[in-house]
Amino acid sequence: MTQQGFRIEIAAGECLFQEGELGYEAYIIESGRIEIVLGSGAARRVVAELGEQQIFGEMALIGGNTRSASAWATRDCVLTVLSHDYLNEQMQDANPMLRHLLHLVMARGRELLLGAVATQPPSMDERHARELALEQVRVEQELRLGLERGEFLLHYQPVLRLADGVVAGFEALIRWQSPGRGRVSPDQFIPVAEACGLIVPLGHWIVERACADLRRLDQALPAGAPLPFMSVNLSGRQFGDAGLFPAIEGALEAQGLAPRRLRLEITESLLVDNLQGALALLDRCKALGVKLALDDFGTGYSSLSYLHRFPVDTLKLDRSFIRDMDGGEGAMAIVRAVARLAADLQMETVAEGVETQVQAQTLKTLGVGCAQGFLYSPGLPLEEAAAFLQASAPLVPASG
Ligand code: C2E
Ligand code: CA
Ligand code: CA
Repeated sequence: MTQQGFRIEIAAGECLFQEGELGYEAYIIESGRIEIVLGSGAARRVVAELGEQQIFGEMALIGGNTRSASAWATRDCVLTVLSHDYLNEQMQDANPMLRHLLHLVMARGRELLLGAVATQPPSMDERHARELALEQVRVEQELRLGLERGEFLLHYQPVLRLADGVVAGFEALIRWQSPGRGRVSPDQFIPVAEACGLIVPLGHWIVERACADLRRLDQALPAGAPLPFMSVNLSGRQFGDAGLFPAIEGALEAQGLAPRRLRLEITESLLVDNLQGALALLDRCKALGVKLALDDFGTGYSSLSYLHRFPVDTLKLDRSFIRDMDGGEGAMAIVRAVARLAADLQMETVAEGVETQVQAQTLKTLGVGCAQGFLYSPGLPLEEAAAFLQASAPLVPASG
């Protein structure tokens, strides 16, 4: 038997592995034949005869398992090796439920082959992995049902112009009112919706709802008042959704909204991880007239090359800088530098998470354009957002 990298050559009559040995590899037969054998001597029993393209030894892939049968070459063979480490690497990114099912199916296969139920209790790690997997499946199914049953809603957080306190626009923030779990934070369910692909239909719903509600918000304003913008958050998986651009275009058209009134918020790390998909979508949106905001600015790479490469209109200063401004010059210097940079590049700035008058005043003197935060208002249901907008609207001089 000779092995070179992922390739093994074994001659007819040779044994590849013995029942009872520890195994960490499975094999694909490129050429030749392999016999799978249980027992030895008088008790020897051939349980399978395998040829080209067939895989064997796969139980070893779950790791640390002893071989439940032996493998003998009945003709000269060339085999490709699939190692436990290789599979593990591939499985790291896989859905936990798939991982769990794979382990389960392998354990069942092993039991069948041995004709007995192996009653090894699961380890703590296995139990933990199983619980995680089951919980993820439950949440995924509840999210799917939730979308059908209308359990999602959007709240709108006002974004105010620091100069005069007028509402410049709103950020749409999704809420999930789950019958079983209560109010679930988007930080918890958006990653699950991403992992299971539900973010695609959910993302369309968000854009359609936000555009329809922007139209309703407009109606709260007196004729002639400047109209607010609507910011919508995007997540990474949505860049791969070919239906997103038509959904955006369709939603704007259906409501008769000027595209420039919609802003897509994306984080730098999303751009970095989905460069091609992001460029494709964002260039089309930009051509349509939709605006682009870089969310959580300052927490990621803050690589200035992105500002140049992507058609960014607005920088959203992350909450952490606003919070740290109270503590010293460092955060303040960063905020000042970002505000200057944005002004030079003709971009707008929005400070996130403004909670105190002192912060608001400081931001204003540092040259930041807009702010949002609990100082003014949290995200509000549509009716309350409309009332907030109305109350903050500047008086429009009567015409004629
Ligand atoms: P984000 O885009 O950075 O949104 C701002 C978050 O900060 C919101 O949390 C908002 O409620 C919270 N916030 C606003 N003002 C203040 C403040 O003054 N102080 C503090 N401490 N927090 C403030 P929320 O609604 O829980 O959303 C969390 C994250 O979930 C969002 O972060 C965004 O990344 C994501 N998310 C929310 N809605 C959507 C959505 O419709 N689609 C996608 N893809 N992601 C969303
Ligand atoms: Ca955001
Ligand atoms: Ca943010």
